[in-house]
Amino acid sequence: MAKKTTSRAYLARYFKRCITGPISLLQGLSVTLRYFFNPRKIVTEQYPENRKTLKMHSRFRGSLELIEDENGENVCTACGICERACPNASINILATKNIAGKRVLGRYLYRLGTCTLCSLCVESCPFGAIRMNQKFELSSTDPKDFDLILNQKEGR
Ligand code: SF4
Ligand code: SF4
Repeated sequence: MAKKTTSRAYLARYFKRCITGPISLLQGLSVTLRYFFNPRKIVTEQYPENRKTLKMHSRFRGSLELIEDENGENVCTACGICERACPNASINILATKNIAGKRVLGRYLYRLGTCTLCSLCVESCPFGAIRMNQKFELSSTDPKDFDLILNQKEGR
């Protein structure tokens, strides 16, 4: 009796799969056909062929960069808040003084190699002077390439 029940259950499963299998196949094929007739909806990026036109999504975090005002001057005031906010010391603010004796940014040192792209520095800056950029090809075999000076002008 038990053997009869087992074989019935097996047959039920078999026939169920005979029906659900082709349905699943048709569902997959419908997706393929939909993209075939609407190629604009395809989200797959043809990288690296599309390197020049590729745009990352708005929330992507590439690396840290300084923001400049309309005169091309860094907005950064060298207050050092971002340096203190960074959890792994990836930022060093080297301040200097300008001719008027005012504290200004000397060098903004940024270590991309240790940066976790957490963006805490960006969020902590009270002047909106830094942001995460959209650069995505940042790999290098030379560790020196990850030690960056975000501003090149000194003692302004
Ligand atoms: S980036 Fe912002 S928080 Fe950091 S030193 Fe400059 S002004 Fe201060
Ligand atoms: S993104 Fe995070 S880890 Fe990188 S420099 Fe800013 S605070 Fe530091």
